[in-house]
This record gives sequence, structure tokens and C-alpha cells, in this order.
Amino acid sequence: MLAFLWLTPLKFMKKMISRRNMLLGLTATAGGLAGLGAFKTFNEPGASQPDIIKKEGLSEPTGQMTYRINKNSSDKVSLLGFGCMRYPVMPGEKSPRSPNINEREAQALIDYAFAHGVNYFDTAWGYHNGASQIFTGSALKRYPRDKFFLATKMPSYLKPSLAQAKEIFATQLRNCQVEYFDYYLLHTLSTVANYQETYEREGVLDYLLEEKKQGRIRNLGWSFHGDAPMLEYVLSRDIPWDFGMIQINYHDLWHKYEPNPNIKRNTPEPAPVPWMFEKMVASGLPLIIMEPLLGGRLARLNHKAVNILQSARPQDSAAAWAFRYVAGLPNILTILSGMTYMEHLQENLQTFSPFEPLSAAEEDVLKKSLQAFINTDNIRCTTCGYCMPCPYGVDIPAVFRHHNNCLDDDLVPRGVRSAEYEEARHAYLASLARKVPELATASHCTGCGQCLPKCPQFIDIPKEMAALGKLIHGLREV
Ligand code: SF4
Ligand code: SF4
Repeated sequence: MLAFLWLTPLKFMKKMISRRNMLLGLTATAGGLAGLGAFKTFNEPGASQPDIIKKEGLSEPTGQMTYRINKNSSDKVSLLGFGCMRYPVMPGEKSPRSPNINEREAQALIDYAFAHGVNYFDTAWGYHNGASQIFTGSALKRYPRDKFFLATKMPSYLKPSLAQAKEIFATQLRNCQVEYFDYYLLHTLSTVANYQETYEREGVLDYLLEEKKQGRIRNLGWSFHGDAPMLEYVLSRDIPWDFGMIQINYHDLWHKYEPNPNIKRNTPEPAPVPWMFEKMVASGLPLIIMEPLLGGRLARLNHKAVNILQSARPQDSAAAWAFRYVAGLPNILTILSGMTYMEHLQENLQTFSPFEPLSAAEEDVLKKSLQAFINTDNIRCTTCGYCMPCPYGVDIPAVFRHHNNCLDDDLVPRGVRSAEYEEARHAYLASLARKVPELATASHCTGCGQCLPKCPQFIDIPKEMAALGKLIHGLREV
């Protein structure tokens, strides 16, 4: 039985808002956050995907998808890949990662994506608590096996023994109803010590290489969320890796991450992104990209940044700019997007059908927009939810997302003497009350540290929580 390996459902559900509406909303409302409740979302009762397609009158680019050829396998892969970690869930579900996938709506997404040229589908052992693999397998079953590429991953974070790894792999084939995986990843490589313990000590990597020899894995690679020594180590092994999956977006490439000087970290330092990307390009490996929108943050910029982009291309969303930048980088095979709503999918299809690289002038515009958006205090949380559940009920991703959004919208009070202090204080606390249940706020973190080793971004969660708890306490005290 593999029940011990399953994750527990997360205890939160953030109302999802379309990138298009989010962008328009931010442009149209003075406070940014104030008007968001008014937008209709796909999960609302009564909203069906066909209704939304009709209502929005979106064009449907067919036969125009841009493809890239994997030089190692000659796979012709769609530049837009479908990330299967954010399927729509049933109404009333508290967590967007619940195993209770809304299969009717999720199937409509897969079918629409497939019909418009998307052929790369990326699932994983832990997505939707294991339900993603099962659903993705059954959703793709209606298509010829040689017409799509299916990727899944060995859950490194569970540190499986060799016997467990074999059982996991066999279960994955069974759950996905396939005889082979096109792309198979060692999930979330973090540190050399973890890698050696998981993949080298008991021979799990040798086993996966054997599966490749047997044809049950067509391309073997890994996803990287680690420190610099980890990347050096994995690239220096004499192993015929077929691809690498990395986190890249224009924010992380152009803006040097400076850790919060007030927080002494207990976690390793993530590899610097420009250095990491350079190493990956030099390796020659085809690259699969995750987090092109930095956990959605690059799809909801602040007013100033949005205005800069819109003055250059009024019809394009902030997300489209972010995708176009990443797609123009070298060695990119496919870019993953976790699409919960039909409007996300349609918007992304428009961006990639066909893909149009940023011109030099547009790249300058994007840099200017980033300058208007950049905030050095933000917490590098991508809201992936791997750190959950917190035994004390803290909704970690929701707390961080709320704080980052407030930073983006200039709603974090800067000092009691500033003219905007009272307004910002009120806005911050009001939005906190709306977005994070009282019992799930930073103030309830006990600093137990259970979340610490689970964060692929190496965020020192207890310390960040302590700092936010202090901030909130201060705001309430005034
Ligand atoms: S350190 Fe805080 S946020 Fe992390 S698991 Fe413990 S109580 Fe929850
Ligand atoms: S704190 Fe880390 S693990 Fe938790 S949601 Fe954010 S990025 Fe993911």
C-alpha cells in the first residue's frame, strides 16, 4: 500500500480571478483589490465553460500553435505545455489542490487544449493529492497515445527507498493508464545531500535508468529547485540526462534576489537565477520551464507597470508579456502553465498560436515595467502549497500571497509618520480579513519548523511568519 505517501489536502481556497479581468480590474479601480470580488469566476455556481467562451467572444486559434523539436528524441512539443496541478475543483472545495477535481470542466480544458495544438501534459505524484495523475491519464485516454507527451515525476521529497520507488513507478503507469512516460523527472532536486540519499544510496537512479532502457521512460530528466552545488553536481554526473526543468521568469532573471537582511536563514541559499540559467543553457539540455509567471504574480502587476505595458500593446495582458519573454530564451522546449479556467487557456493559446518573440524595443518596455513593479521586500513564494498542511492551521501560501499582493499594490504601511500610513494600514488589514481566515494568519505560527524542509524555494517560513506576525500586531495596535 502506498497510502503513507499521499499528501493531506490543503486547507485553503483562494478565489481565482482571471488574468484578463485582474488586469482590467487593476487598471479600473483605484485601490486595486477593492473591486476584485465583482468579477465572475469559472468556479462560481452556474458558470459553465461554454457560457464563458461565448460570452467573451474569444477567437480560437487552431492549427497555429508553435512547436519546438527536442533534439534528443525528435519530439515535436507544443511551446505551451499544460501543467496539471491546478485543475478546476468541485464547488465548495476549500483547496485549489483538492483531489476532488471537477472532471467535467477539467476534461473540457484538456479537450480544448488538445484541439488547439497543446500536446505536452505535466502531472506529478503529489498534484491534487494524487488525483491529477489518475484524472490526466483518463482524460488523455481518448486520444491516440502517440499524439501527446505525458510527463510525471518521482517524488524525491518523500525520499523513497528502492522498493518504494519501484512501487511508485508501477502505480504511476497504472494510474495514468499508459505503458510508458514520455518525460520522467526526479522531482524537485534541492541539495546534494538529499539527492545522494534519495537517488544514489539505494540505487533509485540506476533503477530509473533501467526503466529508460526498457522503454518505459522515453526522456529522463529532473526539476531543479536547489542550491548552486546541487546544480553543479547533477550536471557533472556522467548520466545521459535528456532535459532539465527549471524555474525562469523575467523578474527572477533581471532582478537580483536579495534575501531579507532582517531574517537570518536556516535554509540553503537558492542558486542565483541568472547563473543557473547560464549553466543550463551551456549544458545544452532542452529546457522545460515552470513558474513563468512567478506563481501568478507577473500576471497581476501594479497600476504603473500595467500602464507601461498597455501603452505599448493595449491588447496584451501582463501574462502574455511574461510568456513571450521566456519563450524567446535559448533551448526552451515547452513552457508550463497551470490553467484552471478556460479563459486562462484561451489567453495562453492566443499568445502561443503562433508565438511572437519580443522585439528589442518591447524588451525595453518590459524592463521599464519591471522597474515600476519591483519590490525588494517580497517573499519568493510561488504558492505551490508543498509546505502544507501546517499543523497549527496557518495558511502559508495564502499569507505570503496576501503580503506580496499588498506590496505590489503599495498597501504595506511604511512608517507611522508617512502621509499614507493610515490609509495603507486600513487597506492592509481589511484585505487580510478578506483573504486569510483569522485562524490561518501568520500570528498563529508557533515556529515549529515542520514546513521548513518542504519549501522548494528555501523560504525560511517560520522567520517570515514571525516578521509578518509582528507587522500585523503592530498595525492592529495603533
Ligand atoms: S513553522 Fe509555523 S507555518 Fe510552519 S508548520 Fe510550524 S506553525 Fe505552521
Ligand atoms: S512557502 Fe514555499 S512551499 Fe509553501 S507555498 Fe510558498 S513556495 Fe510553496
